[in-house]
Amino acid sequence: MTSIDRRSALRAGAGAAIAGALASGCTDDGPAPAPPAPPAAPTGPAAGPRPGPAPRRFPGQPTEIVHGPRDRDRVALTFHGQGDPATARAVLTEAERAGARITVLAVGSWLDEHPDLARRILDGGHDLGNHTQRHLGISQMSETDASAEITGCGERLLRLTGSIGTWFRPSRTRNSTPLVTALAQQAGYPHVLSYDVDSLDFTSPGATAVTRNITGQIQRGSVVSLHFGYTDTVAALPALLADLDRRGLRAVTTTELLS
Ligand SMILES: [Zn+2]
Repeated sequence: MTSIDRRSALRAGAGAAIAGALASGCTDDGPAPAPPAPPAAPTGPAAGPRPGPAPRRFPGQPTEIVHGPRDRDRVALTFHGQGDPATARAVLTEAERAGARITVLAVGSWLDEHPDLARRILDGGHDLGNHTQRHLGISQMSETDASAEITGCGERLLRLTGSIGTWFRPSRTRNSTPLVTALAQQAGYPHVLSYDVDSLDFTSPGATAVTRNITGQIQRGSVVSLHFGYTDTVAALPALLADLDRRGLRAVTTTELLS
């Protein structure tokens, strides 16, 4: 984004940011944001004495990670964390049944509504990260608003798990902007997490199409974008994981993908 573009975006304000994201065919426009929920009671880490892992810098990796090493048989399935909690639990169960580990980028307002899911995700051996507080068009926000979106979700994660989460993914955009990347780094995330394979599961194209969208593009090191909250995604997982297994590709957390 040029500085002129950014000034225009700042003038446009957050309301236009949402409309802009929708109009631009954004590939990550999950369910409409819920109205603001009151913060969860400050109960501290819910269960288990061990805090979740902290963000790490991966030397040799770019600031914006699009995929992992192409010379190893590993891929990362990464999920927008929002929507029906039963669907989220079904995704976790299906993945674990196949020995897969996933990465969940949680929306802060979703954690306010379902705080128990943070620990559920970590207890399953998955990665848990920050996907902004309200999942609005962060690329078009003012610096102050964008920063609040990042730190708001980070504070929820810290309160629930003892860590701000290992990853940050910006909302309603595939790629970060220089401003959002700088704000994420200020908040404690050395990298921002993009992806190289879009499942398009949020368009509800049917489970077979979701599987095909992924298997047609995936390669060693791929980072795949998926979403909680859609039944197609749950139904697609068994065939997807079986296909990965046939190819000798192992679904691991993003941390493991890059380690
Ligand atoms: Zn998202």
